[in-house]
Amino acid sequence: MKKVLVTGGTGLVGQALQDIIKNEQPNDEEWFFAGSKDADLTNLVATQALFEKVKPTHVIHLAAMVGGLFHNMNNNLDFLRNNLLINDHVLQTAHELGCTKVVSCLSTCIFPDNTSYPIDETMVHNGPPHVSNYGYSYAKRLIDIQNHAYHDKYGHLYTSVIPCNIFGPHDNYKPDVSHVIPGMINRMHKLRTEQPEIPESEKVFTVYGSGKPLRQFIYSLDLAKLMIWVLRHYNSVEPIVLSVDESAEVTIYEVAEAIAKAFNFKGKLICDTSKADGQYKKTASNAKLRSLLPDFKFTDFEEAMQASVLWYTTNYDQARN
Ligand code: NAP
Ligand code: GDP
Repeated sequence: MKKVLVTGGTGLVGQALQDIIKNEQPNDEEWFFAGSKDADLTNLVATQALFEKVKPTHVIHLAAMVGGLFHNMNNNLDFLRNNLLINDHVLQTAHELGCTKVVSCLSTCIFPDNTSYPIDETMVHNGPPHVSNYGYSYAKRLIDIQNHAYHDKYGHLYTSVIPCNIFGPHDNYKPDVSHVIPGMINRMHKLRTEQPEIPESEKVFTVYGSGKPLRQFIYSLDLAKLMIWVLRHYNSVEPIVLSVDESAEVTIYEVAEAIAKAFNFKGKLICDTSKADGQYKKTASNAKLRSLLPDFKFTDFEEAMQASVLWYTTNYDQARN
């Protein structure tokens, strides 16, 4: 019987994993989803206590200090230190307790800023990341270095995945912290529900920045399925990009339009170019994933957006606002 510990099991991706596993009910795996209330993983003793309690054979390591462009720009030191601590505690404790496999989470936003496109798995360490999120990026890049070091010294299969931008139910909608999709969903909901005396056709929704940057977005439930596949079947230390196709890349303005459509918003969209754009693009190739799993079907972006907005409006009171 495999015993799988998911760190960060209460977050956006963790909740999606919970959903998939609840539906699947695997009979040869026992899953434990840990949040920060179960253990503060910046604390080594708390990390060891969690591992001693759960006794995992396998780990999906999601826990991290996570946030959108504006949160990263203001907190590079905290992103660096918290994530360095969490990652070292989780990987070293997994090693000490004899875990067979660990799948950790990197991100396409940790790739070099100055690069050729599309970006692939071999390019993670090729040059400095975008200046807005260097703390997060260098902490994440070191997971890959540490995985290789465990492999060289002990032969461990500690590996990592590289998702593109993620969205879905249970996201973090806190205005100063959130990524673009949950941030815009929160602001759109407020705009529509506040000041009901103003006709919606006269309301104006503000897209931060120029709206021109490009992003690939994966639905959290698709990512959860792919991560479970990685846990069960991907047996290499080298990272693997888990992203939608390059052709599915959209501009931030198109994202705003999809959110407006999902809310049936009747007003206007404008761009506030006084706000930062961040990295212009980070187009990643999913060729490696496609070669191993050619038939995987990603959920249509607009359909996933409709489901995400519906989740938010239905679960507003419990959402991380
Ligand atoms: P999230 O919704 O913000 O969830 C973060 C999770 O980490 C939560 O379960 C949180 O626990 C836990 N956590 C944070 N600090 C912790 C600490 N000190 N000790 C223990 N647990 C802690 O993040 P997510 O979007 O699901 O991200 C999951 C993984 O995907 C992360 O590694 C992230 O870097 C990566 N990723 C995310 C994106 C994206 O667009 N969201 C894109 C690429 C990669 P509580 O909620 O219980 O406090
Ligand atoms: P990134 O993909 O790592 O850069 O991070 P985000 O998910 O925060 O996306 C940032 C991009 O979305 C930038 O181009 C922002 O200018 C733009 N954006 C537009 N509106 C918002 C918003 O409400 N919140 C955030 N975080 N970004 C926004």
